[in-house]
Amino acid sequence: MLDPILKCPRCGYSTTFVRPPAACPRCKHDMLDVWYDLEALAKELPERIRERPFNMWRYRELLPLHNSANIVTLGEGGTPLVPSVNMGTMLGHEHLFIKDERQGPTGSFKDRQASLAISSMKEAGITEAVVASTGNVAISYSAYCARAGIKLWTFLTSMVPADKMREVALYGTEVIKITGTYDECKEVAANFARHRGLFLDKGLRSISARQSMKTLAFEVCEQLGLLQDGHGKWRAPDWYLQAVSGGMGPIGTYRGFEELHAMGFIDKIPRLAVLQAEGCAPMVTAFKAGRETADIVTAPRTHIATLATGNPGVAYTELRHIILKHGGAMESVSDEEAFRAMHVMAKMDGISVESATGVVFAGLFKLIGQQVIKRTETVVVNCTGHTLAVQQELLGDDWARSFEVPQAEAPSAAPQEGLLSALERLDDRMRDILIIDDNPDATLLLRRVLQAYGHYTLREAKNGRIGLDMCRAQRPDLILLDLMMPEMDGFAVLDALKHDDNLKDVPVIVVTAKELTPVERRRLSGKVQSLLQKGSFTDQDIMDALSGKEKAIDG
Ligand SMILES: *Cc1c(COP(=O)(O)O)cnc(C)c1O
Ligand SMILES: [Zn+2]
Repeated sequence: MLDPILKCPRCGYSTTFVRPPAACPRCKHDMLDVWYDLEALAKELPERIRERPFNMWRYRELLPLHNSANIVTLGEGGTPLVPSVNMGTMLGHEHLFIKDERQGPTGSFKDRQASLAISSMKEAGITEAVVASTGNVAISYSAYCARAGIKLWTFLTSMVPADKMREVALYGTEVIKITGTYDECKEVAANFARHRGLFLDKGLRSISARQSMKTLAFEVCEQLGLLQDGHGKWRAPDWYLQAVSGGMGPIGTYRGFEELHAMGFIDKIPRLAVLQAEGCAPMVTAFKAGRETADIVTAPRTHIATLATGNPGVAYTELRHIILKHGGAMESVSDEEAFRAMHVMAKMDGISVESATGVVFAGLFKLIGQQVIKRTETVVVNCTGHTLAVQQELLGDDWARSFEVPQAEAPSAAPQEGLLSALERLDDRMRDILIIDDNPDATLLLRRVLQAYGHYTLREAKNGRIGLDMCRAQRPDLILLDLMMPEMDGFAVLDALKHDDNLKDVPVIVVTAKELTPVERRRLSGKVQSLLQKGSFTDQDIMDALSGKEKAIDG
């Protein structure tokens, strides 16, 4: 199959797509797109997909991944299109369908995006990445990154429910809580990625993110064809509805509808309804006022974190364009209306959704009430997500770092040092500390920090074997343990300690410059008091990186 064509919409540059470049090589525009030879595909696709399982990779010829061997999958896509029996009857709408994206591997439609985006990262050889998220992207990317062995840093606003943050942490992802808006959060993430030289996920601007959402259109039309006439023909609904934050979902999905239309698989493109939460509805406000660009909502007033994108940027322009071309509406609903819709959908049709998805159902009720959506029309509602709560007991309290976006005038508060806060949790009587580390500079720095902090008896061992002997000769109150050492590494020391009745309860703080793999993290879990990581001994380093400061020279 031919690779698609990569094009720059700004300068017209085009080339054969192999993998997504960071920006246009000619004009540096960073929102490129890919285009397919639809004429050729129209002939071949039905035959090619016939025997494939019903998941999003069924349409792989229309997804921009060069080599299928790089697919990172958890069985995403292929979600059911469920007729809304009771709600449909109550509303007098016979043709109301729910695309149940809750049934993705992590419970939201972001699994499509994650599968393609992480597969592309794998294809590009990326091993560490940064993403800002209103919650669900972080969860989904974490799952797929864990599978692909990619280390992930997620930046979440402190508004994201703790349950969701815990789920992100459970996958071994670094969680950075940002006290600020989602737009500020994106900026901090971008600074951090630049400072660390890490790959930054571009969200809406990323080719894979938008292209992945096409599969929603493909599936819906294939499924509707089966449900509504059964003659093997695909069929488009009259309406497609989604609750919108950044707008990537419908933008990508509509490219999918357009491709199907161009291939002759469907005979029309559905009207689009964009639903937003009233407290953060920049698109709806601008659309109703007939404006071509949206004003930024700087202080979102909604409890629905998933939908709190205040600055829609180019997404608004694109969605407005789609609606002007194919018909549709933008509408907002209050948080209360969304919560009520959650109750109604759960009680009427047995479908429990997260509050962001409550917004789309509340919007559906409103648009039907206004007779914008007519009784006879076929309606597909994207049921975007389900919250799966992670029990609080599963993780300790140390699964996130917090960072306040410094306000313009007020200097930011001095962040707490990681090692010191770890020491703070230790019992007062713990005075005898053993440092096991093969790096003399590291040992010296630890010694300095400890001496500045209190009166300790400090002992040092320059490898694991010596350290263990010293522990056995005299039981220390606390061990600071390096992981990577010759002869006997930190993991082996930990194992030996845990098998020694006299030493198994000695608290251990692991201090390591090494990036831990998920497997290594698992080996440490439950065995160490805390983990100080990242090529430095305090969180200060990370905090500096967050604020874009250069790293200070030790001394
Ligand atoms: C991301 C998300 C949305 C908003 O989607 P966009 O297309 O990015 O605006 C809505 N609902 C849920 C559950 C989501 O995870
Ligand atoms: Zn260009």
